[in-house]
Amino acid sequence: MPRALTPSERKLRNYQLLARVSAAITSSLDPKQTLNLVLTEAVQIMNASSGSICLIDPHTQLLEIEVAIGLHKKARELKLAIGRGVTGWVAKTGQPLRVPDVRADPRYIPLRGSIRSELAVPLVVEDTLIGVLNVDSTRLDAFSEDDEELLCALANQAAKVIHNSWLYEAVAHNARKLEALFAVAQSIISSHDLPDILNRVAVEACRLTDTKVCSLMLLSPGGDQLELRASHGAGPEYLHKPPLRVDDSLLGVVITRKKPLRVFNVQQHDAYRHTELARKEGLVSLLSVPMLFGRTVIGALNVYTGTPYHYSTQDIKILSTLANLAAIAIENARLHEKVVAAEEQLRHNERLSTLGLLAAEVAHEIRNPLTVMKMLFHSLDLQFPVDDPRGKDAEIMAEKMNHLNVIVDQLLGYARSTEPHFAPVDLNDLIDNILLLCRSKLKHADVTLHKHLAAKLPAIRADRGQIEQLCLNLILNAVEAMPHGGDLTVRTGARDGAVQLNFQDSGVGMTPEQREKLFQPFLTTKAQGTGIGLAIVQKIIESHRGQIEVESKPGGGTTFQITLPAT
Ligand code: ADP
Ligand code: MG
Repeated sequence: MPRALTPSERKLRNYQLLARVSAAITSSLDPKQTLNLVLTEAVQIMNASSGSICLIDPHTQLLEIEVAIGLHKKARELKLAIGRGVTGWVAKTGQPLRVPDVRADPRYIPLRGSIRSELAVPLVVEDTLIGVLNVDSTRLDAFSEDDEELLCALANQAAKVIHNSWLYEAVAHNARKLEALFAVAQSIISSHDLPDILNRVAVEACRLTDTKVCSLMLLSPGGDQLELRASHGAGPEYLHKPPLRVDDSLLGVVITRKKPLRVFNVQQHDAYRHTELARKEGLVSLLSVPMLFGRTVIGALNVYTGTPYHYSTQDIKILSTLANLAAIAIENARLHEKVVAAEEQLRHNERLSTLGLLAAEVAHEIRNPLTVMKMLFHSLDLQFPVDDPRGKDAEIMAEKMNHLNVIVDQLLGYARSTEPHFAPVDLNDLIDNILLLCRSKLKHADVTLHKHLAAKLPAIRADRGQIEQLCLNLILNAVEAMPHGGDLTVRTGARDGAVQLNFQDSGVGMTPEQREKLFQPFLTTKAQGTGIGLAIVQKIIESHRGQIEVESKPGGGTTFQITLPAT
């Protein structure tokens, strides 16, 4: 029998043991591995035959065995309510408990028939009890008061290490999420295809929040309904969900309040519209966040888990960031669609205005011969007998000539009504506006814009709309001349009482032959071209008493130089 240690010897031994344990258990940053190291040391120092560490599940408030030594699989699955068993008693009171003979203690729940004594101590992190450390022995009264003291000290130290490994894991987890979020952001923002963006957001929302189903709902144009636009992980029935009314649904609250919403179990929530569907699909916990573009809400992004779950503030942050990124990408794609449509409209207008010019010219050409015909017809002074049918024919001829005259008058009247309206125009301001309109177009075509606007520019007398059309035509031509991107330089300046405007591109350029016929209508080198743009530009320059000059060589870019008289 070894002699009992003196108090100071015991202190020294305990101190040495703790130092060794501390070195061992801080060697890993993985929470599970840390728990294993702690338990291994505890079982060894206490000379125990088995042991376990139970932690309290924050959602269920049950004690679950996290790691165990010497326990069979079935025993490890045991879940204890706080207060039940020796472990439950320690968790409830926060006090250590030593049971010399488990058969004599009514609190004891047998896990292994051969166990005779047990020692259990609480694990406390920052005043919160997180679990219990247990050691058991097949011997009666195997643990002394001294052992209890030592295991408490070890548990104190272990709790700190466990806490640190949790914190580390949380930080690492967040870092991984942020990294994933960053990659997702880049991929969705660079797309202009709306359905593609919506689908990707739905998939990534599930991935980033570890959820089962995602639905992305956008506000209807009227703003009174939420329409399902994309989803991930849901069955076919869910996809046919009718739109939700904003003023009469749970998700509508997310829209009106512009705040996230958590529902622990949608299957048991009165205000949730599709409880039945949620049961069929197995949807349980909902997190819904508004999709904000600036201060405007454009929809809601929703994720559902398949098992009960309390969403953390970190989950809300991640999903909200994704939702707001998605809102930007969606607005971007919508804007892109608008620009494409505006461009289409411009082409259409170009055709129409040329038709108008053409019609006016034709009308003019017809009017002169028609006037001559009318004059000659009247001077013929045709007189036929009353019953001669030619009398009626002559009448009809006169009538038809008058009709033609009316049509020609109307056409000319229409052409006159599109005459320019002159007013003082600030050319710099006009250019700024036009370039703003073209910004996305230029970016998309990989064209870098260089803007050199003169500081003090006299106003010009001009029809603002027509000058805008002129600039747009020249910018579009420049972009189309740079199919692989390039540089576009826009300059304004003043000289000798005139204002100058300059568009220089680094595009394909033109041959001298091309340059000669440049302003002729309907001459184009493009598959989709009309050849009308520059004809219109020239008409506008003429009506403004200006000048246009071109400098260009094949492969060397093109410069259009416009001079307009100042007011
Ligand atoms: P469209 O653009 O429909 O072809 P335009 O009248 O605007 O008609 O232009 C006529 C032609 O002039 C173009 O097809 C092209 O060959 C040439 N052109 C116009 N602008 C440029 C430019 N900046 N660089 C090279 N070629 C140009
Ligand atoms: Mg053109």
